[in-house]
Amino acid sequence: MVEIRSVHKSFGPLAVLRGIDLSVRAGEVAVVLGPSGSGKSTLLRTINHLEKADQGWIAVDGDPVGYRRSGDTLYELREREVLRRRTRIGFVFQNFNLFPHLTVLDNIIEAPVAALGRPRREAVAAAERLLARVGLADKAGAYPRHLSGGQQQRVAIARALALEPKLLLFDEPTSALDPELVGEVLDVIRDLARGGTTMIVVTHEIGFAREVADTVVFMDEGRIIEQGPPADVLDRPAHERTRAFLSKVL
Ligand code: ADP
Ligand code: MG
Repeated sequence: MVEIRSVHKSFGPLAVLRGIDLSVRAGEVAVVLGPSGSGKSTLLRTINHLEKADQGWIAVDGDPVGYRRSGDTLYELREREVLRRRTRIGFVFQNFNLFPHLTVLDNIIEAPVAALGRPRREAVAAAERLLARVGLADKAGAYPRHLSGGQQQRVAIARALALEPKLLLFDEPTSALDPELVGEVLDVIRDLARGGTTMIVVTHEIGFAREVADTVVFMDEGRIIEQGPPADVLDRPAHERTRAFLSKVL
């Protein structure tokens, strides 16, 4: 589902991704760990074409990110096509990023109606199903400011799912939450994982990684230091830097 080959990305003189190789199969969950500044968010943003890689190559479901294939030649995509493809990848942010002036329901149907041209009635029915799935069937008419952080993040997940993405990216989805609200959001993500949604989750929740990840990826200074099944990377890390990081977050 996701193929990343030798991806490099710099901001001016700062090399943020320094040769990333990663594959995630359909239905798998990859959890990305690493210290602040190691390039985790930039990696997610590059997969979603919010940033453009300087070198290397990324494909999502066979489509090269940012390019169209014709025979053996790649052509750079126009902005409109980039936006269209981006709608097929769900992105859940640390700070929820809900539209404050829209109700929960309108937050969820906005993109399906505006970006994909779905009939409003269909989008509303789908949104109601998604709200039930994240345990918020009674909040359709509420505004984000009246919800807890955990509820807002569950709405954000429902909003991402409304576009029927083939891939979901989570960037520290529970880092902004009070500790007692973390569990309800992880429960929803865990359910999606069991349902076979392909996802890449950046998180410091090691227990969640151990339970849900097929692959754990440890990044430091723009590189993947090690990756493998949770039992290897979390319980028998091969690298000193992984051990040092885990001893701080556990
Ligand atoms: P992480 O998510 O692992 O904390 P990031 O990918 O956010 O790391 O950032 C990696 C490095 O890149 C940091 O030093 C950050 O300051 C820098 N960075 C990220 N985005 C930009 C940007 N748009 N312009 C300049 N520097 C950036
Ligand atoms: Mg980050």
